[in-house]
Amino acid sequence: MSQRLLVVEDSKPIATVIKQIARSLKYEVVVATSLAEVEELLSHDNDFFVATIDYSLPDALDGEAIACVLSHGIPGVVITGKMDDDTRQKILAQPVIDYIPKENSQAFLYLKRILHWQQTNGDNAILVVDDSSAARNHIVELLKRRNFVVHTANNGIQALEKLAQHKNIKMVITDLEMPEMGGIELTNEIRKKYSREQLAVIGISGASNGIHSARFIKNGADDFLRKPFCPEEFYCRITQNIESLNNIAKIQHAANTDYLTDLSNRRSFFRSAEQRVVEYVKRKVPYVLAMIDIDHFKKVNDNYSHEAGDQVLKVIALYMRKHFGAGLTARLGGEEFSVLLHGVDTDQLYNKLDDFRREIAVASMPIGEEHISTSVSIGVVFDSSESLSQQINLADSALYVAKENGRNQITISGAEEE
Ligand code: GH3
Ligand code: MG
Ligand code: MG
Ligand code: MG
Repeated sequence: MSQRLLVVEDSKPIATVIKQIARSLKYEVVVATSLAEVEELLSHDNDFFVATIDYSLPDALDGEAIACVLSHGIPGVVITGKMDDDTRQKILAQPVIDYIPKENSQAFLYLKRILHWQQTNGDNAILVVDDSSAARNHIVELLKRRNFVVHTANNGIQALEKLAQHKNIKMVITDLEMPEMGGIELTNEIRKKYSREQLAVIGISGASNGIHSARFIKNGADDFLRKPFCPEEFYCRITQNIESLNNIAKIQHAANTDYLTDLSNRRSFFRSAEQRVVEYVKRKVPYVLAMIDIDHFKKVNDNYSHEAGDQVLKVIALYMRKHFGAGLTARLGGEEFSVLLHGVDTDQLYNKLDDFRREIAVASMPIGEEHISTSVSIGVVFDSSESLSQQINLADSALYVAKENGRNQITISGAEEE
């Protein structure tokens, strides 16, 4: 379902620009051009994800529309032509997401980033650690305006517990002095378990000299804020650190993923499979390693096109996701795939693979104007305690036998002769 953006703006050209930005982010837009119109609209329809609010409107010259929108529980970004300190104070006295000075050439680029963050910050959980409830609540309130998921802790010990409970926490904002465990020790403990690529730590200290900031940084914090801070400084630190974590995550994802099918690539499969196999062997969990190869795939390319071939690879990947959801699936290269699956016993695992094989064999894949049919051959190894690369060799040999015996079938390693 698309999220709705309320645009409160009397200038047509500006409303048009905001609409374009919002649509590029898949927002559905509703425009109101005066305070009277906003009040009328919100009285019967206030289901908006976010609003942009023009500071001065023909019937509300001094920001009156801000309170009106916020009072309906709609988070708002203020767009203002005035940037004097008085106006800034007036705006910041209200719980707005942010304000944007119109005259700035970057204004609309910045608005786009804010609207984008508002959609994505819900995926980012932040842990706020402070023994003072007033200080904690202040930060929590600032974060909630930006749609972050927020957890809290009173001290370092509690913080470590919360981190263990909530795996999606991406950032810890911690006070310096707290009973039981303070911010420096907490940072130290965090760095024993979580790398800077997984979790950002921002220290907060009230001291006027630099020593505490320096200690935070030297103990593994990524950034610090000195109290008292203004909302602009706070948001700037938070967004920079979150964006940098998200960029690292994107790069890591790209490095581990096959670009065409979005399955794991060879490198990532080997790394994850190695760990899982060790676990399965140790815990005596039944499992199977399977090599899957599309039959006569060259003919698909020749008879249709390379692009059609690519589409077939994508469809095969979708079937793999459907059948092997909990398993580890990968495209090893070309038209070769692999899967590592665990289950209750050999029969169940075999049946899963065979259901997959049979569904492919009867599927008629709608690709462009055509319907393409294909099949796969599969070589498998069950519960082997050989090294992963040896298991892959065994599965590969079994796959070769499946091809030799006429394709569209499964061969089990060690049972080739039967
Ligand atoms: P077999 O049943 O023996 O596996 O026959 P095959 O044609 O599938 O096997 P072969 O190894 O002879 O050919 C593989 C073909 O896969 C050749 C190559 O052009 C094609 N191929 C490899 N990677 C890609 C790709 O990314 N996209 C497309 N469209 N084709 C690819
Ligand atoms: Mg105006
Ligand atoms: Mg093939
Ligand atoms: Mg091949």
